[in-house]
Amino acid sequence: MPGTDVAFIMVGSGGVRVNPRRGGTSQIVDIGGRPFLIDCGRLAVHNMVNFGYPVENINDVLISHLHFDHVCDLSDFAILSFNNRRPKKLKVYGPEGTDRFMELGIRQAYQQDIQSRIRSGKSPASMDWDVKEINESGVVTEGDDFIISSLQTAHGGLPNFNYRFDVGNLRIVITSDTEPDDALVDFSESADLLVCECSGTKQFLETQGWGTWHMNPQSVADLASRSGAKQVVLKHLVIENFSDDADVSEKMAEEIRQDIKGEVQVGYDGLRIVFHS
Ligand SMILES: [Zn+2]
Ligand SMILES: [Zn+2]
Repeated sequence: MPGTDVAFIMVGSGGVRVNPRRGGTSQIVDIGGRPFLIDCGRLAVHNMVNFGYPVENINDVLISHLHFDHVCDLSDFAILSFNNRRPKKLKVYGPEGTDRFMELGIRQAYQQDIQSRIRSGKSPASMDWDVKEINESGVVTEGDDFIISSLQTAHGGLPNFNYRFDVGNLRIVITSDTEPDDALVDFSESADLLVCECSGTKQFLETQGWGTWHMNPQSVADLASRSGAKQVVLKHLVIENFSDDADVSEKMAEEIRQDIKGEVQVGYDGLRIVFHS
């Protein structure tokens, strides 16, 4: 619907290891004041609050996959929003295993904490949530002015979903960690913003046992040029933990710029891109 302000916020642009310049993977797509959190890696809670999104005001969470660098701050997110008297029920979308993760990894693991806070007057309702597990590509949820869709791609043998936000004519695609996949081209067609993982150079990834699970500058450029994405933001910059070159990510961006028409930038924590759909 025309007239909706949409903002993308990079909450955390890093990967698996501690990177002093970057939190773990996490993003927000804010549709007309309704924020959707996509993944919740290390430092996500700290960053999202600093970037203007109190945890208790985020009611919709989408999980790409259950690698810890994408979900390790979910317990902080859930318990802190309970502590802060979350007014609306949390809805969590994610792959098979998400419900178990929320129950065992948060509700049961923090049982003593939760009970003690309830004794001090906190409401059990603020700890309540609905989990909707996604088993196939398709529409995840929709509202009057938006549709959120998922695309399953291969990554490390886990159930794994990329997400797309269509708001009127505006299209934002947030990839998961993913093997290069032709299906991402259609999924990202004419995207106004493609937020894409780029874990390292092809040469670097070839030296890693997990390297085939990920995107490199060439596969990002291929995806961006074939889909016609207008703007690309890189994230999940694992290579920074293995390289002495402080400009290694900027060099990956430069490599992609050689091949595509759209804008390319290296994501950073706090990056905010605003659209008027
Ligand atoms: Zn990851
Ligand atoms: Zn992963």
